[in-house]
Amino acid sequence: MKQESAAPTTQLIDVDGKVSRVPPPLGSKPLLIFLVIGETARAADFELLGHVRPTNPKLSGVGDLYLFNEMSSCGTSTAISLPCIFSGLGREKFEVANATNRTNLLDTLTKGGIAVEWRDNNSGCKGICARVPAVAMQAEVTPLLCQEDYCHDEILLSGLSKSITDNPVDQLKVLHQIGSHGPAYWRRYPASFEYFKPTCRTTNLGACSLDEIHNAYDNTVRYTDHVLSKMIEMLQDLSDRYDTVFIYVSDHGESIGENGLYLHGAPYYFAPDMQTRIPMLLWMSEGYRQRKNIQSSCVQSLRNLPFSHDNIYHTVLGMADIKNAFYNSTLDILKVCRPL
Ligand SMILES: [Zn+2]
Repeated sequence: MKQESAAPTTQLIDVDGKVSRVPPPLGSKPLLIFLVIGETARAADFELLGHVRPTNPKLSGVGDLYLFNEMSSCGTSTAISLPCIFSGLGREKFEVANATNRTNLLDTLTKGGIAVEWRDNNSGCKGICARVPAVAMQAEVTPLLCQEDYCHDEILLSGLSKSITDNPVDQLKVLHQIGSHGPAYWRRYPASFEYFKPTCRTTNLGACSLDEIHNAYDNTVRYTDHVLSKMIEMLQDLSDRYDTVFIYVSDHGESIGENGLYLHGAPYYFAPDMQTRIPMLLWMSEGYRQRKNIQSSCVQSLRNLPFSHDNIYHTVLGMADIKNAFYNSTLDILKVCRPL
């Protein structure tokens, strides 16, 4: 693992104003949040969200996993969606140039007393993690999970438990996946996850049939299913010592041949749903739900409401009981389910 180089922080605009935190109840366990940023995962291929193929065999067995069926992305590319999620600006107001010179969600959480770390198995944090500890996953740490220049997403779990328990304070880990990034879908999962066959095994998608491309793509989703279930398992194991929360959201979707379109990055207003409708999943330990008096039936009732990346900033702040000048309770998805 290596430390990511920090992005320039000149002329940083602090948009937080006063940051305040409701103190946790006396005797509370520390808070532990995994915020998993998926890559190129589209809702249409998640079995949990209606896909006809078995792409979520492990997550389907996780109890109290909350699904969000109508979630849309800020952009159709990583370069837009990633900074947008953390900026708090919202899709209508977001511009990359405006977001890079202002404090973001991670800065606010840090001011509120949360120890933040960014763990990256993608192409970096686009400057979002410039002022928090950041680790780029490297092949030498767990060579079995890596091939040539990149590693499978399970490497995000390497050393993760130790980094949490070495620091028994309130903390948030951003886990940034390589997920389903194309066009080399077949490289995104270990050979043992080649479940749907035959697969497209070239980056020249035009040389493959639509079925071969779809098979390879669905194998990436099935591998993400495995990785996410391992992350929840870790939070379950730690829930005797921490009140734990798991949030997974993809950065954007993907076209895999529908209407002759491939990959992503279409102009937003013309982009097909396949590129903008994304999966979001939430899991909370029983301790966290009790601490906040969150009723499962309330969270389940949110399943088909329309949400977007605009909600993530405010929902994460709300889950950590942190407010700043930007916090908007109407965009906090769980506010309605959290009487305390
Ligand atoms: Zn992306």
